[in-house]
Amino acid sequence: MLQEASTSTSPIARDVPRIAHEALKPHESCNALDAGFLEAVALGEVRLTPQQALDLLQHAPLHTLGRFADLRCRTLHGDSIRTYVIDRNINYTNVCNAKCTFCAFRRDGDEHDAYTLNYSAIHAKIDELVAIGGTQILMQGGMNPALPLEWYLDLLQSIKAKYPHLHVHAFSPPEFIEFVHFFNPPGTTLRDKIYHVMVQLKEAGLDSLPGGGGEIFAPAVRRKIGLGKCDATAWLDCMSVAHELGMFTSATMMFGHIEGLADRVHHMARVRERQDEALSRGVDGWGHYTAFISWPFQRENTPLGRLPEWGEQEGELDAPFPGDVVAKLDGTGKKTEHTEFGRRVRLAGASDYLRTQAVSRLFLDNIYSIGSSWVTMGPPIGQMGLMYGANDMGSVMMEENVVSSAGTTYCLNEAVLCRLVRDAGFVPAQRDNFYDVLRVQDGAASPDQQVRDWSKHRVPRLAQHAPIAKPTVTLTATAAAR
Ligand code: SF4
Repeated sequence: MLQEASTSTSPIARDVPRIAHEALKPHESCNALDAGFLEAVALGEVRLTPQQALDLLQHAPLHTLGRFADLRCRTLHGDSIRTYVIDRNINYTNVCNAKCTFCAFRRDGDEHDAYTLNYSAIHAKIDELVAIGGTQILMQGGMNPALPLEWYLDLLQSIKAKYPHLHVHAFSPPEFIEFVHFFNPPGTTLRDKIYHVMVQLKEAGLDSLPGGGGEIFAPAVRRKIGLGKCDATAWLDCMSVAHELGMFTSATMMFGHIEGLADRVHHMARVRERQDEALSRGVDGWGHYTAFISWPFQRENTPLGRLPEWGEQEGELDAPFPGDVVAKLDGTGKKTEHTEFGRRVRLAGASDYLRTQAVSRLFLDNIYSIGSSWVTMGPPIGQMGLMYGANDMGSVMMEENVVSSAGTTYCLNEAVLCRLVRDAGFVPAQRDNFYDVLRVQDGAASPDQQVRDWSKHRVPRLAQHAPIAKPTVTLTATAAAR
């Protein structure tokens, strides 16, 4: 049995406005690397400017970033509890009419391994989730033109009828934008049309929106990697509609491909700006972003991943990475500013991942939760993420299809997840989608405390890294030219 959710002390998302409404004036003249300034940022007394965030990404020692991101995290979340959720990723279809170059998951509708799960298959997955104490499903899919609105409405209603307490976290903004194209709802603006569809899905059982499809917002990058996917403004507008309807959402960023460091900061700045707007409306009946999760691009089996890495050719590393030449903090970078832009990737390793996550914790002062991405980085780096600004370990992983199609992802049960949190020096706690603590794992009954033989809890990988083929650029002519 789950413990009663605490209403008095739980670090709920409704606490976020308290952060944002305090006078967080940027101090543009301050040196971002000054320890006193960073301490003020960490304590929530001053707001980082985009330029200062870029300075940190470029120049701050990793340890400094970790130290102050951790202080920021402790200021918001205390020294004790770090959370996780038990949910299940259900990818209801892999049929998709977009062709993102980083995606190994999508299929055309007539491919032999294209699929759309029927309701009973989805219910069977939920049964397995409920059996291990799961509280929510994360349901996302390709953008499948064969599915009518009624399919989604009936699906949501069937889930809520059978599992009334299950939280349905589903349909990222790119899916909503395609719903508008597929269903042609009434309305004069895109926002009106999204609203028309979203309100029906909400009434049918949709509880909140995941931040999938964020990738990188800068147009020059997005046009290269997200072929057929909505632009950043549409993505953000979709989330604004969800907030207007009182729903909480998350935001994501996928980095470590063709983008420059300034693109990462621009991405976070757009999220922060929209969060300020959402929070300025107040909290009664309004939603906002509750979490930000970033992860590095996984290259296997993807057209983007077959691009050569920057530095493979002699002398390249003496020159700036093309993405950094193009990237601008205001998002106005033009692909024409470097002939090799979009033709080389700069993959992110553990250090780059931790740096980026730490900067996100310091920069996104109005977002409550920063999630660690052990799914792509592996459990030890995910655990390290708790010292680099993350307060949340995400979900026990029963199933994952999208990222694992493009590289190694890992599968963790609750005992291993709890052990990772505890070994990092914190008390693990199961949370719900609102970041309310459901159960603090501080007793002998905790999942990890009951394990006597950890050899039976080895961390299985969902996909294995394949050897990377030598640079053979196989982006389509269209993809490379955009
Ligand atoms: S990432 Fe999503 S939208 Fe893009 S091709 Fe893959 S399934 Fe489709």
